[in-house]
This record gives sequence, structure tokens and C-alpha cells, in this order.
Amino acid sequence: MKVELLNSTYEAGKMCAIAASLCYSSVDIDKVSKRFKRNDEIKKILRKVVLAGHYSVLEHASFTFGVESVSRSLLAQLTRHRIASFSVQSQRYVKFSNDIEFIIPDAIKKNKSFLKKYSDILKKIRLLYKEFLDAGILAEDARYILPLASPTKLIITMNARELRHFFSLRCCNRSQSEIRSMACSMLDIVRKKVPELFFNAGPRCVRKKCKEVSPCGKPWVKVMV
Ligand SMILES: Cc1cc2nc3c(=O)[nH]c(=O)nc-3n(C[C@H](O)[C@H](O)[C@H](O)COP(=O)(O)OP(=O)(O)OC[C@H]3O[C@@H](n4cnc5c(N)ncnc54)[C@H](O)[C@@H]3O)c2cc1C
Repeated sequence: MKVELLNSTYEAGKMCAIAASLCYSSVDIDKVSKRFKRNDEIKKILRKVVLAGHYSVLEHASFTFGVESVSRSLLAQLTRHRIASFSVQSQRYVKFSNDIEFIIPDAIKKNKSFLKKYSDILKKIRLLYKEFLDAGILAEDARYILPLASPTKLIITMNARELRHFFSLRCCNRSQSEIRSMACSMLDIVRKKVPELFFNAGPRCVRKKCKEVSPCGKPWVKVMV
């Protein structure tokens, strides 16, 4: 899995601080923006709005990530997050080559016998997919044989509010391992870039009482790619 930040709002923290300050100010916008010369002033107001739950100001900062070598299984979970924008490599227009590298979950990698069975089936799938293409079946139909383990790449854009929500669900110890690694890596990247927006981001248990139906009962463990 590869996760990288491709783009983000220029001075994202300052942008949100201006938005927050404007809500409580009678002065003109250009004067409000001049108010934020020092980083500690930005930090102070963002801390105040985040802790108060005044999250709409966080929507003025957006972050675009490139993600590669993740499974279609991850994609199905990820695209349930509706307040995000996605561009995903097409299985209709892009044909897989013979050396397609399917994603293998760690739990299967660890078990030699299961890993062999998993690899054997995927080998057969590779061959049948190729046979379909060679017979002139379109990639859009040949792909029906492909499993959830098929690799994909995508570009995702989320604003800081949605990212924080996404982190609270998907960084959780109880979240599925692949999407958890991706979410934790994204959190690590944005926290380094704009700590004032993501200072207490992460699973719900880092801020409040866990609401999971079956809580893990353990401290949060950050998993990275
Ligand atoms: C551990 C876990 C297990 C899951 N298991 C299942 C499962 O078994 N089956 C399944 O189908 N899904 C499952 N999901 C997916 C889950 O139900 C959500 O679809 C997914 O997490 C996206 O969350 P969201 O709707 O809060 O996020 P987003 O779509 O990113 O939305 C963010 C927030 O915007 C608001 N919002 C967005 N759209 C609307 C709307 N139409 N109306 C009102 N408010 C809106 C809500 O406040 C929402 O929380 C699971 C998720 C997790 C984390």
C-alpha cells in the first residue's frame, strides 16, 4: 500500500482559523485574516472550535491523497464515506496484466497453508481472466471473475471535518486491518502537516468513551503501511 498527500489547501490551518474568527467578529474579512500572523493564535482558536464541536469551519481546508496497491475490498468500505470525492482506476478501460499483484491480508500471509491455497486460486483467476481477454471478451465483462483482492489505485479528496470523522471510524482498533492502515497513515500525514487541525483526531476513544458494540478493551494501536 502506498499513501501520499498530493495537495492541500494553502495555509489550511490559517484558512479555518479565519473562518472561525469571522463567525465572532464584526470587522471586515481582510482585517480578520490579518489577525492571524502567529501560529499560536491559529492553534488557540482552532482548539476552541474543535472542542466546542463547531466543525463547519474545518470544511474550508481540503486534502487530496493518492492511494495505490489497495484492494477492491478496501474501496467498497472507503466509498461509503459520502462526503469525499473519489477518482478510481477503471476496470473497464484498464486491463490487468499477467503479473497482477493481488492484495493479501496479513492474517492470511501469516498462515503458510492458507497462503498457498489463496495463491493457487488467484493464479487460476489470473489465467482465466487472460483467457477471457484473449478470446475477445471485453475487460468490463472479464473483470467479473476478479476477486475483492484485486488491486486498485485512487485519488481521494476530503475536507478536514470529513477526515476527522473518517479517522474516528476507520483508525479504530475494531476497524478492518487494511482500511485501518490506510486511515492511520493518512492521519499521520495530515497531523504532521497541520497539527492544529488534527491535534485530537483518531478513533473516538482518544477523546471520549468508546461507543463500539463490542469494544476492543485495549488502548489504541496505530498501524501504518
Ligand atoms: C466498523 C464498521 C463496520 C461497518 N459495518 C457495516 C455493515 O455491516 N454494513 C454496512 O452497510 N455498512 C457498514 N459500515 C459502514 C457504515 O454504516 C457507514 O456507511 C460508513 O462508515 C460511512 O460512515 P458515515 O455515513 O458516518 O460517513 P459519511 O458518508 O462520510 O458521512 C459523514 C457524516 O455526514 C452525515 N451524513 C452523510 N450523509 C447523510 C445523509 N444522507 N443523511 C444524513 N446525514 C448524512 C452523517 O452525520 C455522517 O456521519 C461499517 C462501518 C464501520 C466503521
